[in-house]
Amino acid sequence: MVGAALACALGREGFRIALIEGREPQRQWPSGEIDQRVSALTRASQNILTNLGAWPRMAGMRLSPYQRMEVWDAGSNGCIHFDCAEIGEPNLGHIVENRVTQLALWQEMAGMAAIERFCPAHAESIDLAARTLTLADGRILHAGLIIAADGRDSHIRHMAGIAVRGWAYDQHALVATLTPAGDHRQTAWQRFLPTGPLALLPLDDGRCSIVWSSSPEESARLMELEEKEFLRLLTKASEGRLGEMLATGPRAVFPLRLQHALSYVRPGLALVGDAAHAIHPLAGQGVNLGLLDAATLAQCLIKGRSAGRQPGVIRDLRRYERSRKGDNMAMLAAMDAFKRLFSNRDRLLGLMRGLGLNLADRVPFLNRFFMRQALGLEGELPPLAKRLQGLDL
Ligand SMILES: Cc1cc2nc3c(=O)[nH]c(=O)nc-3n(C[C@H](O)[C@H](O)[C@H](O)COP(=O)(O)OP(=O)(O)OC[C@H]3O[C@@H](n4cnc5c(N)ncnc54)[C@H](O)[C@@H]3O)c2cc1C
Repeated sequence: MVGAALACALGREGFRIALIEGREPQRQWPSGEIDQRVSALTRASQNILTNLGAWPRMAGMRLSPYQRMEVWDAGSNGCIHFDCAEIGEPNLGHIVENRVTQLALWQEMAGMAAIERFCPAHAESIDLAARTLTLADGRILHAGLIIAADGRDSHIRHMAGIAVRGWAYDQHALVATLTPAGDHRQTAWQRFLPTGPLALLPLDDGRCSIVWSSSPEESARLMELEEKEFLRLLTKASEGRLGEMLATGPRAVFPLRLQHALSYVRPGLALVGDAAHAIHPLAGQGVNLGLLDAATLAQCLIKGRSAGRQPGVIRDLRRYERSRKGDNMAMLAAMDAFKRLFSNRDRLLGLMRGLGLNLADRVPFLNRFFMRQALGLEGELPPLAKRLQGLDL
């Protein structure tokens, strides 16, 4: 998603791009089938994808807006509600299948002569001094700048010798699509259990996509359970807020990790998205941060070109790193702190959590502040993440 967005952002500005992708994106799927991999996209991401021309295509496939959020804590009486009406917004974001975002960006790219796609193709090795990248089939590509958008286990980052700092979480995330008996009321629900957060994300057809984080052993057990027992435990874990859980699709599990690259750039190389940072999914921020990386790097390269510099010059890359690294680090640290605070069984901490949540719920200023944060519109934004005048979003 992040690499494709960046290719679109640069391709429409006339930069010559070779996009290398290992897996052919899914081009069609049976109607009514929902992919397990979904992301909650912020308004800033929506703006980026709109400005790149992908959002209307995504709307033609499937977008699920949510208007409210409800977060509550199993270890205290803490609860917080958010409602887009309070800040005069039509929604607080959208739940979108990752394949929808990727396909829309690929369709957009198809019309850009500046982009040549190599797919399926694997980036095997790089030579930064010679600025070459070798594909697994032996073809060699020359470029002023190599951008690693190859995910959390980035092979290119590894080959460039860029170290990461971080740790594996004691949690795995189980994902599935399920049908609740009750109405989800276009609300994103999240309950913090001592074992990890359970998120129920509303889909436009009444179903929900879940992300259920718990210990690796518990996740493995949940994966093995018969459907009836799995649904019973899910109804219990969600306190029946959406009524009984009636049916579920296939389940998949992802190990969770916090990870941050020590550097985002080298002369002729830049890291974006999960290749640069991986974050706990509890606040649904991973790809949103990645899309901001893409929009910012595009802006720095465009600026550099208008000053007569070639892409890959370290000055422009450092500007990108300075703009993004601090923000990403702050979000990684905040989500890590939330994860630790809410997975803690200490009674005093539980009391403080409850007080904190209830305070943020009742003080309108705080409540609105958190909603604006969730929309991703706070702080310095690259031009692509700002709303285009006259566009009805
Ligand atoms: C359970 C779960 C829930 C999440 N929910 C949210 C959410 O609600 N909101 C949110 O913002 N984020 C969420 N995330 C995080 C989000 O999924 C990631 O941040 C996002 O996928 C990162 O996108 P990316 O494009 O950087 O990397 P990836 O999605 O990992 O894509 C990397 C791409 O590179 C290709 N590739 C890799 N190696 C090579 C190679 N050598 N040669 C060629 N191609 C290669 C792969 O095929 C892939 O297409 C969630 C994550 C998890 C695990």
